[in-house]
Amino acid sequence: MALLRREPRTVTGPTDRVVVVGAGLAGLSCALRLAGAGRRVTVLEREPVPGGRAGLIEDSGFRFDTGPTVLTMPDLIRDVFAAVDEDMDDWLDLMPVEPLYRAFYPDGSQLDVHSDVDAMADEIARVVSPQEADGYRRYVDFVSQLYRYEMRDFIDRNIDSPVDLLTENLARLVALGGFRRLAPKVRQYLSDPRTERLFSFQAMYAGLSPQDALAIYAVIAYMDSVAGVYFPKGGMHALPRAMAAAAEKHGVDIRYSTEVASVERHGTRASGVITTDGERFEADVVVLNPDLPVAYRELLGEEPWSVRRLRYSPSCFLLLAGSAASYTKTAHHNIHFGRSWDQVFRELIDERRLMSDPSILVTNPTYSDPALAPEGKQVYYVLFPTPNLDAPIDWRSEGPRYRDQVVRTLEERGYVGFGDGIEVEHVTTPLDWAHRGMERGAPFAAAHSFSQTGPFRPSNIWGENVVFTGSGTQPGVGVPMVLVSGRLAAERVTGVDPGYAPSYVR
Ligand SMILES: Cc1cc2nc3c(=O)[nH]c(=O)nc-3n(C[C@H](O)[C@H](O)[C@H](O)COP(=O)(O)OP(=O)(O)OC[C@H]3O[C@@H](n4cnc5c(N)ncnc54)[C@H](O)[C@@H]3O)c2cc1C
Repeated sequence: MALLRREPRTVTGPTDRVVVVGAGLAGLSCALRLAGAGRRVTVLEREPVPGGRAGLIEDSGFRFDTGPTVLTMPDLIRDVFAAVDEDMDDWLDLMPVEPLYRAFYPDGSQLDVHSDVDAMADEIARVVSPQEADGYRRYVDFVSQLYRYEMRDFIDRNIDSPVDLLTENLARLVALGGFRRLAPKVRQYLSDPRTERLFSFQAMYAGLSPQDALAIYAVIAYMDSVAGVYFPKGGMHALPRAMAAAAEKHGVDIRYSTEVASVERHGTRASGVITTDGERFEADVVVLNPDLPVAYRELLGEEPWSVRRLRYSPSCFLLLAGSAASYTKTAHHNIHFGRSWDQVFRELIDERRLMSDPSILVTNPTYSDPALAPEGKQVYYVLFPTPNLDAPIDWRSEGPRYRDQVVRTLEERGYVGFGDGIEVEHVTTPLDWAHRGMERGAPFAAAHSFSQTGPFRPSNIWGENVVFTGSGTQPGVGVPMVLVSGRLAAERVTGVDPGYAPSYVR
C-alpha cells in the first residue's frame, strides 16, 4: 500500500461507449474487462484476425506463430476470462511445456530447465555441482520474494507519479538489492557461467544487458523458470482467438479489417475515431492499442517529448520454417548460447551491429503439438536478436544474406541439414516489424531502463478520455505485462474495483 495513498487518475465524463483500437492481447484484455464492467465496447482491428504480434501464418499445412512463443503466468489469462465470468479452461487447452527450456552451451554441455525446484536443483547438481544447486535454491527464494514485492505495488496498478512508489514494498525491494544491477546480483547466487547466463538472459526481454538491467527484472526469471511455461493446443495464436471469441460472446463488437486513421478530438477531449474508409465511430472513451509512439504520432497527431526521448530495445530476425528434418536432441524451447556473452549485448545495444557469436532461440512447437504440421513434418521458429532500426543496416540487402547466415549457424550448432530440410519459410526482419507499425522496428518496445520504467514509462492516460494499452506503456513488454496493461487501461475508465483480488498477486 502506498504510504501517501492516492486514487489513480481516471478519464472524465461519460464512459458508456468505448472504442478500442487494436485487437492485440492488450486491446482484447481491456475489452473483456470493460465488457465485464457493463460498457458497450467496439474493437476496431486493422488485420483480418485478432492477436497483433501474436499472429498466425498458415502455409502448406504448417501453422506458424509469428510472435510470442514462451507463454508464462496462466493465472493472468485466467483472470482475463474471469472478468466476464468465463472459465479459461472452457476456451483454451493449455499444456505445460516440459522441460521449460533446453540450454545448449559451446562446451557441449546442456541443461534442462524445470519449474519444479527439486528437479532443477538435481539437474544443476548433475551438470554443474551440488554447491551451484544450493545457489540456485537461494536464487529461487530471491526471485520469489521479488515477485511478491513487485507485482502488487509496481506492476499491477496504475502509477501516476514517483510518489506512488513510496510503499513498504519499495523498502523491501531496496533491502533485497532489487535496485542493484542484475549481473552482479545473479553472481551472488550462481558462480558457473552456464547457470549465470540461464538466469540472466531474461534481461534481453527488457531490452538491456544483464550488466545494465536492474535486478528487479529477475522477476522475469520467476515468471518463466519458477512459475512455468505453457503452450496452448493449436499454437500461441489460440490465445487471442479465444479471448476474441469470449469478448464477442459478451457483446463486444469486433470489426476486423478496419484501420483507424485518426482520433477525432477537440483539444484534449476525444469524441470518436475515423477509419481509413472514412467511417466515424463515436465514443465516450477511446483506448489505443497500436504501438504507443505510432499511436501518438499517427492517430493523435502529436509526439510529446516524453515519447520522442525513448530508447528502444533490440529487435530480432525471425525465420519460420516448415521442415522435413527432425532432431532428437531438441526440446520445445531451445536456447543455444555462444561463447561470448557480454559481447552479445555490447554488439546489439552499444555498437548496434549483428552478433558475431550469436546466442539464439529455436522453438520447435511440433514437439508439443504435432498437429501444427503435416504428418511427420516439423515447425521451427528461429529467433536471432538483432539491433533495431537505429543501426545503419539496410535490411533490404542484408535480409537474404543474414537468412543464409542463420541457416549456416544452425547447421554449425547441430541442426544438420537444416537448410535442405526446409519446405516452406517466412522471414521477418526489423524492417518488416517497422512496416507492421512497430517504432524503430523494435517489436519489444521501449527498453526497460530505470528512466523508462514504472511512472517514468509513458503514461497510459492522455487528455480527458484517451487511454493507451500495450507494451509501449506501463507496465511493459511481454504477454503477462500486456494482459496487465489491458486491466490497467480498463481501470482508467471504470476506476479501481476495491473488491478485486486477483489470484496471481500473492
Ligand atoms: C518475435 C516476437 C517474440 C516474442 N516472444 C515473446 C515471448 O516468448 N513471450 C512473451 O511473453 N512475449 C513475447 N513477445 C512480446 C509480446 O508478443 C508482445 O509484448 C505483445 O504481444 C504485445 O501486445 P500488444 O497488445 O501490446 O500489441 P500488438 O500485438 O502489436 O497489438 C496491437 C494491435 O493494434 C492493431 N493496430 C495497429 N494500428 C492500428 C490501426 N491504425 N487501426 C486498427 N488496428 C490497428 C494491430 O494490428 C494489432 O492487432 C514477443 C514479440 C515478438 C514480436
